[in-house]
Amino acid sequence: MSDVRKNMDALRAIAESPRKQLDRVLAEGKKAVGVIPYFAPEELVYAAGMVPFGMWGAETQVSESKRYFPAFYCSIIHTALDLGIKGEYDGLSAVMIPLTCDTLKGMGANWRYGVKNIPVIDVAYAQNRTIPAGEEFTEGQFKKIRGQVEEIAGVKITDMALAKANKVYNENRKECLRFTELAASHPQTVSLTDRAMVLKARYFVERDAHTALIKELNDALEVLPEEKAKGSRIVTTGIIADSPELLGILQDNGFTIAADQITHESVDFRSLADETIDPVMALVKRLSGIKGTSVLFDPAKSRNTELAEIAKAAKADGVLWVLTKFCDPEEFDYVPAKKILDEAGIPMLQIEIDQQMVNYEQIRTAIETFKDML
Ligand code: SF4
Repeated sequence: MSDVRKNMDALRAIAESPRKQLDRVLAEGKKAVGVIPYFAPEELVYAAGMVPFGMWGAETQVSESKRYFPAFYCSIIHTALDLGIKGEYDGLSAVMIPLTCDTLKGMGANWRYGVKNIPVIDVAYAQNRTIPAGEEFTEGQFKKIRGQVEEIAGVKITDMALAKANKVYNENRKECLRFTELAASHPQTVSLTDRAMVLKARYFVERDAHTALIKELNDALEVLPEEKAKGSRIVTTGIIADSPELLGILQDNGFTIAADQITHESVDFRSLADETIDPVMALVKRLSGIKGTSVLFDPAKSRNTELAEIAKAAKADGVLWVLTKFCDPEEFDYVPAKKILDEAGIPMLQIEIDQQMVNYEQIRTAIETFKDML
């Protein structure tokens, strides 16, 4: 088996078995802390010697969470809470819950009531995160969280340990970014599900372990000759786009992901922490610098102009807007984005995704039509 395939399979196996990864971490005597999206300062968890564990929901049918959230709330929150109530996250020492959107604002209270054995660390950051007062507020919050994480870990987080965590995370971000470029230039070798699973795996293992695997994969991919795309090149945008069914349909229709503006993927790793400044401030500044997502305050809607720029730079034929069902921030962004892309002459297809979806036939038809149109 080639090195590329071996590494991709290893990363895919991690991405497909979150509970197994958590059990392994616990069996090694380490503590793990759940991290609900978006952009919680999980480097503090790493710096305290614990393992951050990503919680972006899952493709599952919910039952228990419906007692806490209306059925028309997004599936990320529903499935994460549902799994929590059903004991799928038992063993976590705590869960970080950011207060990013209106839906997430109710998550902390519901989690405290429904999952009593896993304490909550609330993660508040300033909406106006880029102005000095906003950064000062966020810094205060991150320092408070640092104390809470220290209490759970039973160790002090030194500045040196946090600086090291920032470095480890930056290295991982750079390799993830490098991988997205290599995946785009090797569409025959790296399928769209391979691409998604390689990136997703970073949420379930220690970041340095993920870096080691993805770096080896990148090095092996880099020496392979570039491959021609079979069909159209697209940019994906949205919150999350890891559904194997969706990616399978795109693959069947010959699409290559030339670049992405997905919060779960590139948006998360494009922005680096400044390793030359105070390490808490580096976390704050990184948050200030994150662009391209509907979940962070963006009054100029620069996410949409950035989307057109990404599509042009990647020489993409079109954009796929992967709308997470019932997500207000994403719905608000769609109209200005459509206008900007229309003006730039970039075709866009919007599809609606839900982690509880079982029937993808409507999406298949829309994607087939999009392919013909492109
Ligand atoms: S931003 Fe959208 S998808 Fe994310 S938790 Fe809020 S409503 Fe759900």
